[in-house]
Formats: sequence, structure tokens, C-alpha cells
Amino acid sequence: MPKMRAAQVTRPGGPFEIVQRDIPQPAAGHVRIKVQACGICHSDSLTKEGHWPGIQYPRVPGHEVVGVVDAVGAGVTQWKNGQRVGVGWHGGNCGFCDNCRNGDFFGCTVNLQITGISFDGGYADYMVAPAIALALVPEELSAVEAAPLMCAGITTYNALRNSAARPGDLVGVLGLGGLGHLGVQYAVKMGFKTVAIARGKDKEPLAKQLGAWRYLDSQTQDPAAELQKLGGAKVIIATVTNGDAMAAVTGGLGINGTFFVIGAAQSMTVSPLFLLSGRRSVKGWYSGTAIDSQDTLAFSVLSGVRSMNEVYPLEKVAEAYERMESGKARFRVVLTMGQ
Ligand SMILES: [Zn+2]
Ligand SMILES: [Zn+2]
Repeated sequence: MPKMRAAQVTRPGGPFEIVQRDIPQPAAGHVRIKVQACGICHSDSLTKEGHWPGIQYPRVPGHEVVGVVDAVGAGVTQWKNGQRVGVGWHGGNCGFCDNCRNGDFFGCTVNLQITGISFDGGYADYMVAPAIALALVPEELSAVEAAPLMCAGITTYNALRNSAARPGDLVGVLGLGGLGHLGVQYAVKMGFKTVAIARGKDKEPLAKQLGAWRYLDSQTQDPAAELQKLGGAKVIIATVTNGDAMAAVTGGLGINGTFFVIGAAQSMTVSPLFLLSGRRSVKGWYSGTAIDSQDTLAFSVLSGVRSMNEVYPLEKVAEAYERMESGKARFRVVLTMGQ
């Protein structure tokens, strides 16, 4: 039986172990992917640390996967060997529960599948995914370029395109890390008056390089007051994971404005009077499904949006994960399999 390498976690909080496993066979409705690159997302800590209920260990994390279709299971007609594909967070859904029938696949109550949590993800030479979870990767993107777009990219792109913002509207992007540096680029390319908000004057050149119209330093300025001076934001995308940092910016929403929460903060406060007096809202956003990923990749090719990445070989998974956790990576960390 041919073998492959996989970086697995055997218990909550346990270390990564690189093990030899049999190369898996795809079951009916599934596809085997020869992995070329896999991004390391902060949400992989849910698998690593066991913060998601019901994970069965050992488990291989990784939901920013790009590779080549290597084998297809029975009944798979839409994919064939040699196609380059990506797999993101949304790994599948039942298709017949009421939420699925309403098109809210992320809310599937019967069989919501999450890559790297419900089944093994992309920290390996090969992985098997439900055919429904695959996105086509355009040839213009390298595997390393495409991988972070499968979660960080789709999350920011899909939130923005599903918001009420129209070209020319004032849009704030809070945070200039892995998510935020993509969010600013997408907002700019969608034609929004894009205001990047982060801590420190030193981030301003980056914000401008990414195309931001204005930069607000939340350490020396009141971002909410500054946004109001600019007319109030139609949309603010909050990519940080600190509830106080979020709360400091909600006051920058204009009339009918929406604050999109995509960073997993523990809690945040918001003024009910401020919300109701301006019909403002706070909304969470789930990344999206495979076709949303495919749209994200296509838009990135069209508009030139790219993730800035630090690349590590699979053998250095522990070091790469630490780098992501340190918050110092510029800006996404990507594993490569050397194939
Ligand atoms: Zn992610
Ligand atoms: Zn369902």
C-alpha cells in the first residue's frame, strides 16, 4: 500500500505529529486530492486545541487546501483527474434539511461538514473531500497564492459582496492582518471608498500600498469619530479578534450601516440606542460554500488581489503554526508539500 505524510493531532492540545499513513481511497461522492499547498488559519486551533465539540482524533487540520484531483469515487461526474481544485472551511451539507432547501447551506442541521474538523484536512500529501466541497482553481494562481484565498479570501470577499455597500460607499476594514490585508484589497477593487483601521502609524504605508483611500490609527485617533467625519460607514468589516477594538469602531457606522463580524472575539459591547436611532446592525458572517470560493479565486485573478504569504514545508508544521499563532506573520502562513 503506498504511503503519504500527514501532520496529525492525536489529542486536544497535543503536538503535531508527522506520520506515514496509507494514501486514502475516495468513497462514493468523494474526490482524492494530491495536495500542493495548505494555508494555516487561526481556526485550525479549534482542531489543534480541541475547542470544537465532537472532534474525533487523530485529526489532520487544514481548510485552505489547493491541489490536483488524483482519483474520483463512484458517482462523481463533475470532477476529473488532473483538475486543480481547492477546498475551504465548508466541506459539505445534506442538501435536504429546511436550511439547505432555503439555500442556507452553512446552517445545515443534518450533515454540516467542516474540513479539517469533520474529516481530515490538507496538512498532508493527500486528502479526500466530498465532491460538493471543491472549487476550481484558475491556472493564473499558483497553489501558494490560491491557498489563503480559500478561507481568508472568501470570508472577506463574500462578506463585502453580500453587504449593502455600493461602488463609492464608505467601507471600513478593521485590522490589517491575514484577513484585513485581503479585505482592504477586495474593498478597493470593488470600488468602495476604503478606510483601513489598525493600531499604529507604522501600518499606514501598507494600507496605502493595498489601495486604501484613508488610514486611521486607532492608537492616536478615535476611529468612530473619524468615520463619522467622513460621512459614516455603510459597512465595516471587523477582522480583529478583540471585542474592545471592535466596540471602539462600531460608532463609525452611518445611517443603515452594518458592522460585519468576521473575527472570532469572545464578546463585544454595542450601544442599543446608537443601533436603533440609525437603524444600524451588527451581523456575523460565515465564509461561504465552494462556489463562493471559486468566485473569490476568479475575482482575485481579475482584479489582481493577492495574499502576502510566508511559506513553510510540511515538515516544519509546528514552527509554521507557532508563527501563525504569534500574530507576527506577514500575513498568511502556507504549508507546501513539495509536489
Ligand atoms: Zn479559516
Ligand atoms: Zn442540510
